[in-house]
Amino acid sequence: MKVTAIGTGYVGLVTGACLAEMGNHVVCLDVNPEKIRVLNGGEIPIHEPGLLEVVRRNVAAGRLQFTTDVDMAVQHGTLLFIGVGTPPDEDGSADLQYVVAAARSIGQRMTDYKVIVDKSTVPVGTADKVRAAIKEELVKRGLGDMAYAVVSNPEFLKEGAAVEDFMKPDRIIVGSDDEQATLLMRALYAPFNRTQDRMLVMDVRSAEFTKYAANAMLATRISFMNELALLAEKVGADIELVRRGIGSDPRIGYQFLYAGAGYGGSCFPKDVKALVKAAADNEIPLKVLTAVEEANERQKRVLVDKVVARFGGDLKGRRFAIWGLAFKPNTDDMREAPSLVIIDELTKLGATVAAYDPVSMSETARVLGPRDDVALVDRAEAALQGADALLIVTEWKEFRTPDFDAIKAALKAPVVFDGRNLYDPRLMKTLGIEYNGIGRG
Ligand code: NAD
Repeated sequence: MKVTAIGTGYVGLVTGACLAEMGNHVVCLDVNPEKIRVLNGGEIPIHEPGLLEVVRRNVAAGRLQFTTDVDMAVQHGTLLFIGVGTPPDEDGSADLQYVVAAARSIGQRMTDYKVIVDKSTVPVGTADKVRAAIKEELVKRGLGDMAYAVVSNPEFLKEGAAVEDFMKPDRIIVGSDDEQATLLMRALYAPFNRTQDRMLVMDVRSAEFTKYAANAMLATRISFMNELALLAEKVGADIELVRRGIGSDPRIGYQFLYAGAGYGGSCFPKDVKALVKAAADNEIPLKVLTAVEEANERQKRVLVDKVVARFGGDLKGRRFAIWGLAFKPNTDDMREAPSLVIIDELTKLGATVAAYDPVSMSETARVLGPRDDVALVDRAEAALQGADALLIVTEWKEFRTPDFDAIKAALKAPVVFDGRNLYDPRLMKTLGIEYNGIGRG
């Protein structure tokens, strides 16, 4: 099939590359010429395991191309995926300007039947807005009767495992009220859906809602555990044992029950906000989700509170090592990363920071800009030299079993603040390391 992916970010690029992998002919369009230059140079602008290989293989096979040429891209696809950003607006609602602009650019150029697929995470009712924007453009061109369909196909991939998630989806949600479009979507996804039918076809609004509901539920589990962790510390319980204790109940399950330094990323914070805002607009205040967000804001500061409790509120002359900057392992994505809040708070209190992340160093440098109070170092050990304590913020595998003797030798005093509960407090005690985890009373 002929597919166009509009937006070559985490979602658009993975979608385009994985659809090409199944034999489709895909054009990926972006308004950012730098991204297209990188892609046409045989590289990818993001860190995503396995993606570079899929991209290179399909470019070589002639099934995948990258362009800024909107005319060519719109003409190419029968299915046009919109995978552009939907960042939070000032009031928390999803900013749909990029989605609507993409829709307009389609309406300004299409000359035959197209299926426009909303893959971006968008509020309920967005498909109607996309449909209306296209219609408006068609009417301007005197083509008001031209047939097209708008379907919702929210994406559930996880950054860091995006290719695998796309190739082996848990479910494929398609919101469609157009029979021909549904048939095309079924055909397109058939290769991803062979062992078991994982496609759920529903009405467009329910599909749009499903994505927000999923992210809201996952964020809720995290904030729930983070709040319990705060209490566990006070009452002398270990949240890690509690986690295992409750996870063994199949009604609860083990996934997404980790207490930590708060959730970040480009999805949970903005999607929770957008759902809370949409609910408020509909006069259905979502009390649970409002608390989920508040709890997360507090949680991003928990490590700093622990540092202050240990070293006092004036951190002038202190230096802290930070391991892990990306909002989660296996990605370079720094959007809403808790590490940024931690760096900000520590430096505001007068401290300096030496930080290391296996892949997001250049992205961090770009986000932070030049700073005298933050040194970005290229090895985990280098961050430790002469620091007053080590803070672990992202649970990269390489931090799981470090050389504890080297940590002790490099730090001024052996103090560790473990924002991801990677280490066993009893082992730390035996090693003579002052250990501060999350919820480990
Ligand atoms: P991103 O910011 O990485 O990429 C968006 C891309 O769209 C950018 O490259 C931008 O230049 C491009 N763009 C903007 N307007 C355009 C236009 N008119 N034409 C062509 N290109 C245009 O975003 P992302 O992380 O891939 O997220 C995209 C959407 O998918 C968001 O709604 C997000 O909530 C959702 N989503 C993201 C993830 C994730 O893990 N990142 C997972 C599921 C869903």
